[in-house]
Amino acid sequence: MALINIERSIGILDQLIAALPDDDRACFHRIFHLSTTVGRLNPPETMHRWIKSYFGSVEAVKTQRIVKITNLITMEGALFNELRASRPVEAKGSSDLEETIASNRGDPFCTPLASTPADTFGRVRGKHSITASNVAKYDGFHGVVVFDEHNPLVFSSEEVSDYIDTALAWAHKAHDVDPEARYFFFMWNCLWKSGASIIHGHAQMTLSRDMHYAKVESLRRAALRYRQTHGVNYFDDLYAIHKALGLTLENGPTRILVYLTPIKEKEVLLISQKLDQNLKDSIYKVLKGFIERLGVQSFNLALYHKPFGRVYPEPCPKQSRRESQKAQDKHLADAEEDWSGFPVIVRIVDRGDPNNKASDIGAMELYAASVIASDPFHVAEALHEAFTH
Ligand SMILES: [Zn+2]
Repeated sequence: MALINIERSIGILDQLIAALPDDDRACFHRIFHLSTTVGRLNPPETMHRWIKSYFGSVEAVKTQRIVKITNLITMEGALFNELRASRPVEAKGSSDLEETIASNRGDPFCTPLASTPADTFGRVRGKHSITASNVAKYDGFHGVVVFDEHNPLVFSSEEVSDYIDTALAWAHKAHDVDPEARYFFFMWNCLWKSGASIIHGHAQMTLSRDMHYAKVESLRRAALRYRQTHGVNYFDDLYAIHKALGLTLENGPTRILVYLTPIKEKEVLLISQKLDQNLKDSIYKVLKGFIERLGVQSFNLALYHKPFGRVYPEPCPKQSRRESQKAQDKHLADAEEDWSGFPVIVRIVDRGDPNNKASDIGAMELYAASVIASDPFHVAEALHEAFTH
């Protein structure tokens, strides 16, 4: 194709789509809506020097290509500005940040047994971590995996695996206490830009009842509708179209993609049939690529998992008709909750420079669509290097 020697970038996504084979192009349009426009402005002479130093040339600023992508299945949306996206992504260390992290040693998570509460069912001790009960809970079961390592940006593949295994072991303990609690959610907020209130490395997990969290449930419903409409698995198609565009990474059976409608900068999705060692290793590799190749210091990680073992209560002959009917209705409601084909999904996103006081999200992200400065094609290239070196 004519595009073979052109550098791939989000600004020419329409051309990249046009050059795809028919099947791939159809797949793209089943999932995404793409709209491209140009913004223009007239800067006064007095601004030229500043513009050149910041954006390279005045011409580059006078006409700016804006790419608006909407995921029609999940209704997630992103706005890319080629001008912002074309700015180089460079890995940078911050001595200020290192100092802040080091000066925080001795925080409560450095002595978890003395300074954090246990759950009523006790603690889970991992090889490199221990669980605590969250003091101010989001949900009935809400725990913390406190890492042995204080520095939240220092971890090995083995440690990342241990953090997830420990959270999962905690969730199974909680599930034993309350079999109705079966919706597991794992999250890792790293440094304050991501919402973490404690610097010391830690992840969190919840086990919810009755229904999964709104965003997870919304994705389940969207994927189910997709399968009912098109007869194929949404996640298979989502991966296939990213692969056709060169936005995927390989690490064994785990499917990794740099998402076209990211919630915020550099979002990567990892999709796996099971929460297995390969997925855990892939998570480590993406995080390592983020930190070492893309200069990420603060990130959020979330893991979506289908509910634990579905044990329906048998109708009890001693129950009143009303009670029995309620149990029956609940059984039906549960049966309608079809999780077949829903994989384990991990989402990882960069939350920006910890030294920058401005929040990375504003009214656009909360109420309209996400404004993105990182080019998914550049992120994929950087991660590809991290995966192969
Ligand atoms: Zn600490």
